[in-house]
Amino acid sequence: MFLKLKIFKYLLIYRFRKEFKTREALETWQNKKIKKHLKRVVKKSSFYSERLQKYNSWTAFPIINKKIFMDNFDAINTHGIEKEAAFEVAIKGEQTRNFSPMIKNITIGLSSGTSGNRGIFMVSIKERAQWVAYVVLNLLGFKFKKRKIAFFLRANSNLYTSAKSRLIDFNFFDLKKPLKENILSLNKYNPDILIAQPSMLREIAKAQQEKTINIKPSKIISVAEVLEPIDHSLLKRTFNQVIHQAYQCTEGFLAKTCSYGTLHFNEDLVKIEQHFLDSNKDRYHPIITDFTRSSQPIFRYELNDIIIDKQAPCPCGSIFKAIDHIEGRSDDTFVLESRDGKSVNIFPDFIRRTIIITCKNIKEYIVEQSGDKEITIYLDSQNFESAKTLLEEAFINLLKHYNVDDCSLIFKPEVPICNTSKLRRVKRNIKQ
Ligand SMILES: [Zn+2]
Repeated sequence: MFLKLKIFKYLLIYRFRKEFKTREALETWQNKKIKKHLKRVVKKSSFYSERLQKYNSWTAFPIINKKIFMDNFDAINTHGIEKEAAFEVAIKGEQTRNFSPMIKNITIGLSSGTSGNRGIFMVSIKERAQWVAYVVLNLLGFKFKKRKIAFFLRANSNLYTSAKSRLIDFNFFDLKKPLKENILSLNKYNPDILIAQPSMLREIAKAQQEKTINIKPSKIISVAEVLEPIDHSLLKRTFNQVIHQAYQCTEGFLAKTCSYGTLHFNEDLVKIEQHFLDSNKDRYHPIITDFTRSSQPIFRYELNDIIIDKQAPCPCGSIFKAIDHIEGRSDDTFVLESRDGKSVNIFPDFIRRTIIITCKNIKEYIVEQSGDKEITIYLDSQNFESAKTLLEEAFINLLKHYNVDDCSLIFKPEVPICNTSKLRRVKRNIKQ
């Protein structure tokens, strides 16, 4: 009950918060919020307390990243929880599929980073209430009507199930269960809102096309993986509606789509600085400062996701920064050697574009930099041989453009199935 009351409180606060008319008004409001938030945080976080003493203002804090954040886990979090204890509880929760692990009333969960790079998220009851209120208002949309929500996840958390109420029937589908079983129970459930990662949505769309199932969701939300154009168009075609996206990670709920399908940063929760990666200033790493979360405070944290800026204003009229698309992670940028011995970077979008432009009828693909001088291309195409010939030429041209001569191309006629791990269609995966 305590949680429900808190959710109600934040529903009211967020619902009646004033709208920002200009960027200046938004930024002034953000800066005020951050200062106030920091004042509270430094009382309990020795990491930020030391930073504030040393640098005087949060704007001068050195930028941190996932490694620094995890290395300083104990000093950053405001509940005095140790990293080892948090990992132990979170891992046990996943293994036993009991998703309500807690320490001192704090929900603990594992982030879905690649192995060896796992993070921990911690959420207090207050933060759970804020998250639910925000998601209900901004992502699900508040309605006085009972709605069924199907949520496909690698691991559930009581963060998500907190959204359950008389108006929201929330059904968790465990990605660890066999695909067929999940698809059939989804059909039986017939959700109003469907939330899943693109690789799962793709399977659902295929089943819908094959008429194995017949669901009629009024809203589809893609989460957890980059929504690639090839998957986006399949979903749009199958379900004939705007495909929504939520950009949420351990570091927070960062962005969501508006009614036009444009991703906007949630600048009423986080402040975004941009670390540009190219001279055109159209791709950047977001540096986030969150002024809502206090269990694991985040000030000037650089993500390694590559964001492509959307320059034109969105017809929805929002002044929140718009994202054209999320290109992938910087770790997935191909790094090759040019003929004069220089290291060259090829961003994932250039790989993606080469595939899509060259072969119109490809069903699926994965392109992987599999060695220092080796690229492997997995293809699911009706005519593999002709697709291979076309792509070979296109990739040689692409590499030529970067002055790379010495790189072998390997073609494979099937796309490996990735069960519960995140699907990345363009990735750098060099086995050491
Ligand atoms: Zn918009």
